[in-house]
Amino acid sequence: MIHFGNRFLWMLIVVTAMGIAEDCRAWGLKEHILMTRIAAERLIADPATPAAMREWLQSSNRSGSDMAAEKQFFLHQRIGIFPRAVDGLGFWSTMPDQDKGAAGGRQTVEPFGVTESQLHFTDLELLGADAATHTYRDDLSHKPKPSDIPRDFRNERWKHAGMLPFRIEDCYGKMVQAFRVGRLADKDGQYPRDEHAERWAGYLAHYLEDNCQPHHATVDFMSRSYFGKGNPRSPNVHNNVESTLMDDETEDHMALREEFWPLFVAELDRVKDPIETNDPWAATIEVLMKSYDALPLIGRAAMAGYHLGGTPEAPTGHPIDVLDADAFFHFKVKVGEQEMTLLEMKAHQMAWAVKRVERVWRQAWEEGHGEK
Ligand SMILES: [Zn+2]
Repeated sequence: MIHFGNRFLWMLIVVTAMGIAEDCRAWGLKEHILMTRIAAERLIADPATPAAMREWLQSSNRSGSDMAAEKQFFLHQRIGIFPRAVDGLGFWSTMPDQDKGAAGGRQTVEPFGVTESQLHFTDLELLGADAATHTYRDDLSHKPKPSDIPRDFRNERWKHAGMLPFRIEDCYGKMVQAFRVGRLADKDGQYPRDEHAERWAGYLAHYLEDNCQPHHATVDFMSRSYFGKGNPRSPNVHNNVESTLMDDETEDHMALREEFWPLFVAELDRVKDPIETNDPWAATIEVLMKSYDALPLIGRAAMAGYHLGGTPEAPTGHPIDVLDADAFFHFKVKVGEQEMTLLEMKAHQMAWAVKRVERVWRQAWEEGHGEK
């Protein structure tokens, strides 16, 4: 090891950690690990999964086992910003977030020409043809039409919108290619060692999961518009949707976790992926579009959780210092046709993400093995 002295090393660690924490546009690492491992475990348990794929998943799902263990992990495990004691698919699914904070986080990812942090989301509003609609509105009137969205990442509108659909297409292709050439996992004498299906399955899972977090579909990715224009005391609601329940620094919210788990398990049984297309790019756009509809629920729940009055367009009062998690997660409003609490929405979107991962992995396996 090169001798930098302790102080430099600590600085490096702190700066790296800040890089990860800075652009917190992702389900927390703990959620990615959970969703990815559950997708693997469900496919392993499904008799319709090809036997060879089950075998590959079994060996790649190191540190995961079954739903009983996942429940304990969800209820009690602390993860934070480093995926301790996690290996295989669960580990690889955290890497896209780790990449953001690592030294490479400032380099561009090719062919996209943007940094890693720009690959996890798409601000749908920015893709609308009319620049006057490039902001978030609670009435969802600034959501673009699918036909407005150009399928060319060189198009000027993609420059700041975030390139999630292209990255999902890219990782899917890399996973298929790894299967084609039989690179299933890291092994001795295989270089580059970490160019394999296990890695790309983890990356792909990460982005597919991000796809189902409504905040990843909007310029208003912390629901700041609900706290009044330019309010410097506006909290990080993005974090509240993700880490507050799962992996909070200061409180476990155990009663809410106990309430969440059966909702999530029930959604895993109930949710059918409504996306018809198998085209990874087009499917990503559709998932963004649907997830976007939950944004008013999140914003209004945040107003309730921080004890604001008034309306979304004209909020009154100041946010309290610490989120009232009960008021936030139990806030209820219609999303589309269905009334749901924020907790139910979260369970639904996370279960849907698991289903998307199962489906797209399975499709990649089939395409990589010439079955499609
Ligand atoms: Zn992410």
